[in-house]
Order: sequence, then structure tokens, then C-alpha cells
Amino acid sequence: MEIEIQLTPDPIAEKISPPPSLGGQGAWLEFRGVVRGEENGGNISALEYEAYPEMATREIRRILESLGTKFPCLAAKVIHRVGVIPVGDTAIYVGVASPHRGEAIALLAEFMDRLKQDVPIWKRRAIVGGTDSVGRVTPCAPVQDRLPTRSGQGTARPTLKSLDEALVEIRSHCRPLPAVHTPLADAFGRVLRETVCAPSDLPDGDRSTRDGYAILQNDASGIFQVVDTLHAADWKPRRLKPGETVRVATGAALPCENLCVVMQEHVERDGDIIRITKQETALNLRKRGEDVRAGQPLVPAGVRLDAGRLALLASGGCTQPAVSPRPRIIHFTTGDEIVPPDRTPKPGQVRDSNSILVHGLLQKFPCSVVQAHLPEDFGAAKQLVLTFHRQPSTFDLLLISGGASVGDKDFTRPLLEWLGFEIIFSQVNVRPGRPLIFGVNGSQAAFGLPGNPLSHFVCFHLFVAAALAKLTGAEPEKFRRGRLAAKLNDPPCPRETLWSARREPAGLHPLAWASSGDVTCLRETNALIRVPANRGPMESGAEVDFLPTD
Ligand code: AMP
Ligand code: MG
Repeated sequence: MEIEIQLTPDPIAEKISPPPSLGGQGAWLEFRGVVRGEENGGNISALEYEAYPEMATREIRRILESLGTKFPCLAAKVIHRVGVIPVGDTAIYVGVASPHRGEAIALLAEFMDRLKQDVPIWKRRAIVGGTDSVGRVTPCAPVQDRLPTRSGQGTARPTLKSLDEALVEIRSHCRPLPAVHTPLADAFGRVLRETVCAPSDLPDGDRSTRDGYAILQNDASGIFQVVDTLHAADWKPRRLKPGETVRVATGAALPCENLCVVMQEHVERDGDIIRITKQETALNLRKRGEDVRAGQPLVPAGVRLDAGRLALLASGGCTQPAVSPRPRIIHFTTGDEIVPPDRTPKPGQVRDSNSILVHGLLQKFPCSVVQAHLPEDFGAAKQLVLTFHRQPSTFDLLLISGGASVGDKDFTRPLLEWLGFEIIFSQVNVRPGRPLIFGVNGSQAAFGLPGNPLSHFVCFHLFVAAALAKLTGAEPEKFRRGRLAAKLNDPPCPRETLWSARREPAGLHPLAWASSGDVTCLRETNALIRVPANRGPMESGAEVDFLPTD
């Protein structure tokens, strides 16, 4: 992988091109970490970064080289600005080229993780104050000297992220929850956190696949004497001589090596004597270790346990696998126009469909979910939240439906800040679903989701699922390549669009929707087509990226 690293006191350029040596091949994924106007709950005007330049450069290279062996990427460019960096300026730029976007996203997310942990670059201080006429910072006091405020009313500049940037932020801020050992019957759908290896050969010896007669391979005798009978549970080792045979049942362990089994349909038996009437074309046995050898992986870490994988663990004697715990999720709906679905809405009211939508979407992830509706009054909402959130350890993921925008009554952001969440971003440049808040508070993550059900559906599959994958130690669902089975007639849009589609063997059928308030397309949707910004209509047969949602 081609690697370029710069540590610089100068502003990072607005536009950075991939290395010319790539000749335009592959996807070029870019991430920019911009200094936000807020630190520890207070407003700031700049951050000062310091570094041990040589060590930092060496360490960044080492990390990229090791990640390059895991995710096959073509090139990576890292530019980290050091010194005083005003709010709104880029502190770090990372560009990654890879054959497919998925590898670059995965590399970027892990790189950002490792950068924070392992590279000697640190925030020296946060600066409160203004900038002079030429944009230089005129510092007042380091923000750490002031008491952090908890009143945050969303005064900081909204941070708009591209889809890819948002995914990198989510994956680098969420941490896998510590694994737990759990009985197999409770492990369905959970993510295995340790590779489980076969404790012994499977099968543990040569076993017959037929009801019949075991004889020595290459024994040309015409007739055979039956010297023993073996059922499936029998274990009676013995040597066989030419002309001897053992009656065996399907699944029975053969008494010694180098045997084959003649099907009972292919012999004539008279007392203890058999005569072969038809030659076999197969050995009719499962060889010792032919399924898996002792010590070889049975089920690798990181996979979701389905029925087949659980059966494999059981056959290997692993009855308490280390798996992800069930994330504890709290989901609040908001909005005084929302009424329960069993109530007839008055004019201006809307039935709550997001609760059951989120509940259904979470079925794929074994978790515990508590759902409630928050009152309109911010003070009353805080009181209700406190009844669910007495200690910091009562949930792992908080989802709030609606109120994620900047309207008078939209209190999701202040509520999260009041709970101590650091807001990582508050908008994503995608359609539907632009007002999306993501925040972290220690090991807890939170999303403020736009209220419209279609936005909800899209944001869940794109972002909440990515967080849940990281929390549970699973591989995130990746975009796949597919073809349109019909024209996608969308005028150019400056935002990336996730277009609901029905995926069929013939390809992807774009479904009709006019706004994020539309719900009927959810009846058919099993995929989201990724339409690049400013793309315009796409003809039937066009190759597209899509995310399966079924
Ligand atoms: P908001 O994101 O709070 O501005 O909500 C935008 C729109 O989403 C509202 O006008 C509602 O029509 C809709 N909405 C919000 N919450 C829900 C919900 N729980 N169920 C169905 N629709 C909702
Ligand atoms: Mg609302």
C-alpha cells in the first residue's frame, strides 16, 4: 500500500487528490476531522495540538502497514495539522484508496481508533476567545480551566458529515461490549467473540455411511464370515483378516483402519456367511477427521451464531461460548402530535409507527429494549429520562425518535448534552435523514433520529446498525454491487440518496417515494440503493451500490 504522511502547522487544503500513481482506479474515501466549537460542554474558538513528529509519523506508518494487510487497500494519505487550529478548520485528513469502498471504510475506522490510542499526538489545550482580523486566534483562557456547563442548548455549529465520514465516526467511537459466556440455548443471533476450535477430530474415527458389511479394502474373497455386529453406539476395535466381515449399522465406528463397507442390498446372507452380489464403487465411510481436524477452527470469532453454527459448537463440546452481551437499548419517541397506534388521531396528530418499526428492526440484534414516549415539556422529559437513567450503566445505546432538528420544540440535542453526551455530529448529508445526531458518553452511544418513518428506516440501517455491529463485535453490513432492473428517475440532488428498492433475482427495482413522510414504500423495501450526490437519473442495467435490509 502506498503511504503518505504529513504533520504540518499549515491549514489543510480544501481539496486533496488521490495519488496520481493510482491512475483513477478504485474508490477514494476521504475523512476530515474538523475542530468543533465545543469542548467539555463549553464553547471554544480553537484547539492546540502537539505531537512528537518523528514518533507520530513512524507510528502512523506502522499502523497503516498493519491495517493494509487486513484490509487490502491501494494507498493512504494522512495529514495531521499541529499547533493552534481554529474552529471549523480540519485537524486531520485521511484519504484511503481501495478496490471497493468497504475495505477503505473498515481501514479508516480502525485507523482512527488506533490513532487516538497509539499515536503521540494530543490536544494540548482548548482555547476560548476570538480570532483577529487575519483569522489568527486571540486566546483567552484554556477551556479546561472553566467548569464544564451542562446546560448545552445546541449552540455549537452543526457538524455535517458525509455518509462515509459518519460511518467512520460511529465505528471509531463505539467500543465492543465485553464478551460474556452464555449457554448455547441463549446464544442464537449473538456474535461469537472467540474462535472455537475442534477439540478432537470430527468424526473421531472412520464411520460407516451405510447399513452393510465392513471388509478390508482390496479383499478379493468371494465369501465372507460375519465375525461381529456393530451398532451406532458400539466401540469395539479389532483387526479383520481377509475373508472376515463385521455387520455395521449407519454411523457405527469401524473396528480398524483401511476398511470399506458393502451395502446390505449388495450381499446375500446365509447364517454367518455373506456373498457379495454387486461391487461397490465407493468406500461408504466417513474418514476420521474428514469434517475437521483437532485444533482447526470450528467457528471463527466475529460471526453471528445461527442454528448451523450453534450445532457446530455443540458438536465440538463448546456449551458456554464467549459471545457479545445483549446491548441494553432505550428508545424514546418524542413529539406532542404522536398518539399510540390504537388511538384515532385528531387533526394534526400522527399515529406512532416508529416504536414498532424500531422494535422490529432490533429483532435482528439480540438486545433488551425499553421504549417510552417523552413529554413535550423539556423539564418533564428530563424527569422521565432520569427514571430510566439513574446510573450511567443502565443502557448501552440510546435512541431518540424525532426532535433531532433545530426547531423550537426539538430538544434531542440538549437532552443528550444534559445527559453528558458529546455530540460527534448532528447532520449527515444524505436523503432521507439529514438531521441525525450521534453522540457518545464513555462507553454509551446515542442517536437522535429524524422522526419520519422512512428517514428512521434509512438511518437505522445505515448508522444504528453500524453502531450495533461495533458494540457487539460483528462485521458491519457492507454495501454490495448490483444492477438496476428498472430506471431510477431521480433529478440530480446535492445529497447522497438512499433509495428504497425491491431486490429481486432480475435486479433492483427502485420504489416510488416523494418525501421522507412516505411510508408505503416500506411495504416492499428490502434494499437501499446508494445514489451518489448530483448523479441524476440512472438507466435500467446501471451498476449501483446497495445495502440489503432484509
Ligand atoms: P421530527 O423529526 O420530530 O421533526 O418529526 C418529523 C415528522 O416525523 C413528524 O411531523 C411526524 O409526522 C413524524 N414522526 C415523528 N415521530 C413519529 C413517530 N413516532 N411515528 C410516526 N411518525 C413520526
Ligand atoms: Mg418532533
